[in-house]
Amino acid sequence: MILTTPAPLDPLALTQALIRCPSVTPADAGALGVLEAALKPWGFDCHRLPFALNDSPRVENLYARVGKGGRNFCFAGHTDVVPHGNKDHWRVDPYDAAVIDGELIGRGAADMKGAIGAFAAAASRFLAKRKGGLDGSISLLITGDEEGPSVNGTKPVLGWLKERGEKLDACIVGEPTNPERLGQMIKIGRRGSMSGWLTIKGVQGHSAYPHLADNPVHRLVGILGTLIAEPLDKGSEHFQPSTLQIVSADVGNPATNVIPAEAHAVFNIRFNDHHSSASIERWLRAVCTGSGANYELRIRVSGESFLTPPGPLSDLIAKAVTRETGLTPELSTTGGTSDARFIKDFCPVAEFGMAGSTMHKVDERVPVQDLETLTRIYEGVLEGYFPAP
Ligand SMILES: [Zn+2]
Repeated sequence: MILTTPAPLDPLALTQALIRCPSVTPADAGALGVLEAALKPWGFDCHRLPFALNDSPRVENLYARVGKGGRNFCFAGHTDVVPHGNKDHWRVDPYDAAVIDGELIGRGAADMKGAIGAFAAAASRFLAKRKGGLDGSISLLITGDEEGPSVNGTKPVLGWLKERGEKLDACIVGEPTNPERLGQMIKIGRRGSMSGWLTIKGVQGHSAYPHLADNPVHRLVGILGTLIAEPLDKGSEHFQPSTLQIVSADVGNPATNVIPAEAHAVFNIRFNDHHSSASIERWLRAVCTGSGANYELRIRVSGESFLTPPGPLSDLIAKAVTRETGLTPELSTTGGTSDARFIKDFCPVAEFGMAGSTMHKVDERVPVQDLETLTRIYEGVLEGYFPAP
């Protein structure tokens, strides 16, 4: 219960304060402290959750919740950002959070400090209107490990929530989902992603005497040819076709008269809900084994594909988006992975945030007006999720 209501948070000022913390992954640089200080006056119970698992760098995380019971609506995001690259290529210092010609410029403006500022502001406006009489809970799950290995971030925080018996009932992830303009796209799922490192072992020898050698390059070319010969599928109702991309094929042999002993390739696969990483791995191994080659295959799975089918959560977000922007957002599963891949095991999850055309780039920026519009959209989502009594 809030006794005296503070003035609602300003999305621009809060986003600027977040950008001024140079939280290049895995550094926090004070970013979560800024958010915590903004949320506490609104009654949020804040838990700092640092993790340092599996020799990965120690990362700060924050779980903040207001409300004691009822349905828990969660906003998930990350305060870490990718490196700025060469500062000289920026129009302004990437951590000054300068506003020029109506645009806020800085690392993280789009991905995704702007969305965090907007959601915190939306929650404060919503709570001010309800005057502490919220029948339910609003929470923020903010990690500092999304742009890094994602080992010490959302995943262990969700484990911590589970241990405490803390439930999430719906979640919006603030990734920059809009290709160009705010309002274009909600993500309701993501393709799975996995990579493979393939080594073919042959027998080294003289290229003039191939019968005395076993050329691993020929075997590798044969296997790779089979892997890319046919499309993996034609796509599914909500997904693009799966794709296997060979990203590297190396032998490193400087001699023209030597058959090398080994050949290597690396590929990345983005797959839809026709497959699982296990079914794809079985297929990869069957192709390699079927070729008769002596091979080693190492697989790393970044995430399985997932989908929150169009329904109450995507409807709620779409309605708020249309009201504030006039656009009908596309429900999409395109792009890379996000932390929604961990949250999907806990509750329905959808993603909506800023326009992403400048994310990870030099002069990353968002229109100041978009911060206000996104705040209103998030506020509309909260209004819809917690109808006034
Ligand atoms: Zn992001």
